[in-house]
Amino acid sequence: MTPQTRFNPAVFIFLLGILLLGRSLLGDNKETPPIPYSQFLIYLKDLKVESVVISGDTIQGTLKTLDKSKPEHFSTLKVEDPTLTPQLAQAGVRFESVHESTFFKDTFAWVFPLILMAGFWWFIFGRMNRPQGPLMNYGKSKAKIYVEHDLKTRFSDAAGTDEAKAELQELVDFLKDPSKFNRLGGRLPTGFLLVGPPGTGKTLLARAIAGEANVAFFSINGSEFVEMFVGLGAARVRDLFEQAREHSPCIIFIDELDALGKARGLNEMGSGANDEKEQTLNQLLAELDGFDPSTGVILLAATNRPEVLDPALLRSGRFDRQIVIDKPDRKGRTEILRIHLKKVSIDPDLSLDSIAGLTAGFSGADLENLANEAAIVATRRGAQTVEQKDFTAAIERIIGGLERKSRILSGEEKKRVAYHEMGHATASLALELGETVHKVSVIPRGVGALGYTMRRPTEDRYLVSKQELEAKLAVLLAGRASEAVFFSDISTGAADDLDKATDIARSMVTRFGMSETLGLETFDRETSPFLNQRVLSRSHDYSEHTSQIIDQETHQLISTAYRLALKTLKSHSKFLEESVRALLSKETLEEHELKELWAHYS
Ligand code: ADP
Ligand code: MG
Ligand code: ZN
Repeated sequence: MTPQTRFNPAVFIFLLGILLLGRSLLGDNKETPPIPYSQFLIYLKDLKVESVVISGDTIQGTLKTLDKSKPEHFSTLKVEDPTLTPQLAQAGVRFESVHESTFFKDTFAWVFPLILMAGFWWFIFGRMNRPQGPLMNYGKSKAKIYVEHDLKTRFSDAAGTDEAKAELQELVDFLKDPSKFNRLGGRLPTGFLLVGPPGTGKTLLARAIAGEANVAFFSINGSEFVEMFVGLGAARVRDLFEQAREHSPCIIFIDELDALGKARGLNEMGSGANDEKEQTLNQLLAELDGFDPSTGVILLAATNRPEVLDPALLRSGRFDRQIVIDKPDRKGRTEILRIHLKKVSIDPDLSLDSIAGLTAGFSGADLENLANEAAIVATRRGAQTVEQKDFTAAIERIIGGLERKSRILSGEEKKRVAYHEMGHATASLALELGETVHKVSVIPRGVGALGYTMRRPTEDRYLVSKQELEAKLAVLLAGRASEAVFFSDISTGAADDLDKATDIARSMVTRFGMSETLGLETFDRETSPFLNQRVLSRSHDYSEHTSQIIDQETHQLISTAYRLALKTLKSHSKFLEESVRALLSKETLEEHELKELWAHYS
């Protein structure tokens, strides 16, 4: 990355002086610390040495590695050893000797102080003659905003995120020709928020948009604002937008937005950091409001914790489009592995698909790490190619570390999650709620969910009938029901479903007048599951007796719905069993796959 600073010849010369000083003091040694001569002989014996260059009293060489683009260098001090040459020849090492010249060293030894002094003089003199005022913007915070041009990142560098890519392609088209969108009167959303677990390629995709469209990429990281002085963060945000406007078309990317955009109430109360964050956030909100996407600047941000973001950031006209990037499924993982193994020589018999099968829950970054680890294991073994067993060894090592950090499901747990999620899906398909099941997955996602069933309404709905609410309850409870019927034991996995179901059932009784016993009165007026808010204290303006009836009625609704769920699942058990099998092997089932299974087995 190149910080955006104006070119200053004085500074340049100053740095050049220091560089030369460093070089002449250190000599021409490569950065690697020397290894003992005995170690060198061992390398030689093990046939690990590719080539050596002998000069003066040092030997510098390269080791054989699998990854040709990353050669491993070493150096050692020479020992009087007449057997060296025959040994090198026997080991098939390419070797040569170079004559060490001291001319450059000697010259630099007296040239560098001169250059250093010239630079210093220029620096002082130049500053004295320069007019004071706007040119001297040291207070401005330009140095920390990074701008990159000609990014080499492309969409093809990120695999397993096809849905997100399709959506982001629209942005590339826009950046390539902003006027096309204006002409059609189309309005782009103001800001795009990439949401997904760490390491799934959010930063990668943002850079790929800039690379594909060949525009400048202004980026800043939310966490950089944390340790700043009051007022500096706000100034930086202002600079960022100002500079971007001058470079349109371009991209502004705010990585890790949650570090900056935490809901204001969530910050530690009363600390100085709080003031600073609040100022910065307010400045960002102000910039967003004055932001005009038709000028050819695309605003992107990324976060893995959307739930802590200040709601003001997500309002319409701000970051009003969310693009979800999930952990990859088996097919996605195969493609990601293929990308990261491009530079590595792999065994032709290696099956990437079977490695993908062993790595459920791995993110793109985890897979990249895995590819590296496997290559290291193979190199240690002295092998020429990376084989299946190297991957198995690397996976074991990595999973040990990952299990603590994120969720990797064991085989048994995955099966349970599959039954649970297919329970939801089966009930949803069978009860025809006016929604289709878009996707079922057993890949852990986000903070809490181990798997998920994505349902999608088939049309816009404003009113919900009693029958539909009852069916909805049954779908929510079907996850638990499926565990109970097909897994013989229940788990804690349904807690969230039960919460939601209870909310709905209670609202049916207290707000929608759907209980015959209680009639049309409403109770607990402020609570609403549809507003997504929980009021801390409910006002109880009814009798203890009424309160008991509310509880009974709620209970009644829930248990009726649970019976409906059980009945539905039992009558579609063939479909459920078959799709669980498919789900376990593929990890995600898409809408059309579910439809096929449904047509076949129901
Ligand atoms: P995030 O920003 O979502 O935390 P990054 O974009 O920083 O994740 O990903 C880190 C690295 O992991 C990337 O540079 C890339 O090498 C690898 N990676 C992540 N996701 C993918 C993917 N979908 N395809 C290929 N490589 C990926
Ligand atoms: Mg990132
Ligand atoms: Zn569930």
